[in-house]
Amino acid sequence: MRPEVVAAMMPVFTEHFGNASSIHWFGQHAKSLIDDARQHVAKLINAEAGEIVFLSGGTEADNLAIRGIAESQKSKGRHIISSQIEHHAVLHTCKDLEKQGFEITWLPVSRDGLVNPENVRGAIRKDTILISIMHANNEIGTIQPIAEIGRIAAEADIYFHSDGVQSTGKIPVNVKDLGIDLYSMSAHKIHGPKGVGALFVKKATTLKPIMTGGGHERNRRSGTENVAGIVGFGEAARLARLELMQEMLRVRELRDRLEAGLKSQIEFIHVNGENAPRLPNTSNIMVDYAEGEGLVISLDLKGVAVSTGSACSSGSLEPSHVLTAIGKTPDEAHGSLRFSLSTMTASEDIDFVVEVLPGIVARLRELSPYYKGNSGSDH
Ligand SMILES: *Cc1c(COP(=O)(O)O)cnc(C)c1O
Repeated sequence: MRPEVVAAMMPVFTEHFGNASSIHWFGQHAKSLIDDARQHVAKLINAEAGEIVFLSGGTEADNLAIRGIAESQKSKGRHIISSQIEHHAVLHTCKDLEKQGFEITWLPVSRDGLVNPENVRGAIRKDTILISIMHANNEIGTIQPIAEIGRIAAEADIYFHSDGVQSTGKIPVNVKDLGIDLYSMSAHKIHGPKGVGALFVKKATTLKPIMTGGGHERNRRSGTENVAGIVGFGEAARLARLELMQEMLRVRELRDRLEAGLKSQIEFIHVNGENAPRLPNTSNIMVDYAEGEGLVISLDLKGVAVSTGSACSSGSLEPSHVLTAIGKTPDEAHGSLRFSLSTMTASEDIDFVVEVLPGIVARLRELSPYYKGNSGSDH
């Protein structure tokens, strides 16, 4: 977390401990802190404060958006349009709805990781109730043509949800211009605390709550508010908005320098999604003839934390569904590394990675039975 975020949260644990639903001063003060945070989060995406629902994070935001619309609209239809590269919070939620009798169209993406808006238009049916396409992808950073999809959704009068967890605070977002009805956000992706997020719900959207109880958050999400978390989210959102333009340029330059530096020193690597519009802070690099896990562990020993294109589930290495969807083989997915930069990344951090990674790759390739046989061929 950013130190400013921690500083904003501390007094909530010690002095301003009221329950925002209480009438007494302590409660009303907590409520005013939540109101301020709601303004900051709303401003970051050009929404009204009354359109922001605080909840436990991006996962819950995706669940509330998708299940909330599915439940409220199921008398009109049971068809949902989504994509093959969604975050698991959307993917598994839609898969669960499939089991309950909803039908999902899973749109493919191009080799650069982009959904074609014309495919969205083509998938619309009379019984389509929701389109859920993420704004920016969490693995490769590609930015989807959300404005066009929003226009198509509006023309067809279908609700449009976008998972904005990666894009919020990283690129300018204007939910009004983008034609979005529901937008998911999470504090910990912008140096806020974990376990708190928000869902933008456009005015007059009918949404069935998934959490029932005391009717908090204007009946959209029951449960005593996580005041400290919300205040931290508000401060992170305020800072992200203040610094957005300048940080976007600074971080993009660092990212580009990282990619150029690695390309100039390591053969047989390439950047996934390179030709698509991308977030400034994400770089997904495919390293041929090297094992992702080995790269991650070697970099970790140097103090560099990255992730790879596979998730270890039940002991077997599952290639990432995102890299698979852009046409990578399981081997290629296993050899992909994701670097995430942020406002806390410094120029020296980039220099360090460019200095140590070539040696690590060379060492791992020495162990690869394919490398020597294939080096020199056009792979
Ligand atoms: C991190 C992330 C989520 C989940 O958010 P949590 O706050 O961790 O639950 C959802 N979608 C995307 C695109 C993400 O990157």
